[in-house]
Amino acid sequence: MPELPEVETVRLTLAPAVGMQAIDVWTSGMPLRLNQPVDATGLRDAAYRRRIEGVRRRGKYLIIDFVGSPRSVLVHLGMSGRLRLVKSSAEMPRHTHVVFHLIGKGKKRQLRYTDPRRFGQISLLQRDAEKEHPSLAQLGMDPLLEALTGNWLYQRTRYSRQRIKTFLLDQSVIAGIGNIYASEALWQARIAPSLRTHRLSRQRAQLLAEAVPMVFQHALNHGGTSLRDFVDADGVSGSHSGYLRVYGREGEPCLRRSCGHAIRRTVIQGRATFYCPVCQKR
Ligand SMILES: [Zn+2]
Repeated sequence: MPELPEVETVRLTLAPAVGMQAIDVWTSGMPLRLNQPVDATGLRDAAYRRRIEGVRRRGKYLIIDFVGSPRSVLVHLGMSGRLRLVKSSAEMPRHTHVVFHLIGKGKKRQLRYTDPRRFGQISLLQRDAEKEHPSLAQLGMDPLLEALTGNWLYQRTRYSRQRIKTFLLDQSVIAGIGNIYASEALWQARIAPSLRTHRLSRQRAQLLAEAVPMVFQHALNHGGTSLRDFVDADGVSGSHSGYLRVYGREGEPCLRRSCGHAIRRTVIQGRATFYCPVCQKR
C-alpha cells in the first residue's frame, strides 16, 4: 500500500500536468472503494475545458485543482491505485478506470488512474468546504507539511495505552504513516514497537518526532525507485526496497553500527512489524 512518501512522489511526478487543459474525461463505469461508483458527470463538470491549477497532497490523499472550478478531484490510491501522466499514444493498461485527456504546451497527455483491486477512491471535493469533507476532516497532522515536535507527540501520547506502533498508524493523529514507515521510524528512534504509548518519555518523544520526517525524507530521496513498483500488497518489492533499514529484514543484521543483532519480525494488530531486539527498548 502506498504510504505518504510514495504519494508525495506521485504528486511530484504530476507537476508537468499543471497548466494543461482537460478536454475530456473518460471513466470505465466500474465502482471503486466500498463499491462506490465514480461520479463521471461530476468529474467532467469539475474538469472540462479547465486548466489544472495544481496538485496538492493531504496525508495520503491527492487533490487536483482546476482553474475556476469550485470542485477539485480527490484521489486516494488505496492498495494498488496508480495515477500517471503519460503520452496519449501510450497503450492503455488493463484496470484503467479514469482518464483525463489533457492538452497544453503543444502536447497531448493523459492522466490515467489504474487500480487492479479497486480499493482506491476518486471523488469530488468542494473547495470552499474541503476541511469538512469526511475523508479529510479526520486526518491528523501531516509531518511533511507541518513540524512534528517532541512536545506535541509527548502530549498526544499521555492518554493512550495502546502500543506505540499502533498509535503511529492512527491516521487521525499523524496522517500518512503506514505499516512500513512505522517500523522504520521506531527503529530510527530506538523504540520497541510494543512500548505502551503512555510510557513514552519526553526525551524519546523528541527522538521519535525527529525520526518520522527523517524516514519520510529518506524514502522520498529514493521515491523514484520505490514508486516504480509499489504494486504488491505491502508496497515493497524486492530490489526497490533496498533503502529500508528494518522493514522486511527478518534475520538480517541490524544496520546500526556496533549492533548487528538479527532483526526480528512480530505481528502487532495483525500487521507485520520488524525491530531490533537489542537497540530498540521498551
Ligand atoms: Zn540493533
